[in-house]
Amino acid sequence: MSPPEPLPFDVRPSPIQGLGAFAIRPMPAGTRIIEYAGERLTPAQADARYPDVAGARHHTFLFAIDDDVVVDASVNGNEARFLNHSCAPNCDVVVDEKRLWIEALHDIEVGEELVYDYAFVLEERHTPAAKRRYPCACGAITCRGTILARKRG
Ligand SMILES: [Zn+2]
Repeated sequence: MSPPEPLPFDVRPSPIQGLGAFAIRPMPAGTRIIEYAGERLTPAQADARYPDVAGARHHTFLFAIDDDVVVDASVNGNEARFLNHSCAPNCDVVVDEKRLWIEALHDIEVGEELVYDYAFVLEERHTPAAKRRYPCACGAITCRGTILARKRG
């Protein structure tokens, strides 16, 4: 068995929040960077594990693959969980064969923080109050002030 590929990024403190992932080698657009790994749950299991408490801060380690499967990166997750949200992302998450992968959206240079748009969707309307519970401080010129997705209604 060959040793695993070394990660193309380091995890260290981020100006956005907490820890972030920073490129340590250049990655052309389309590079598959890392799997977004974690325990696979049904939406009902995820809801039971993380009841939505009004006014509480959200947990950003859940990722829905589709209507049937949610990945919880806080259990058996990997370094992909350190990627922060940005409203001006350089990465995207793609679903392939029911697995999640972080891919480069455009060419990434050494030292760039790897970020993707979390685009959270709530059951409730994305009111100004809801947006304040899910704030964004990514610093992008195009920052929409929240990690919630744009949503009609
Ligand atoms: Zn932002």
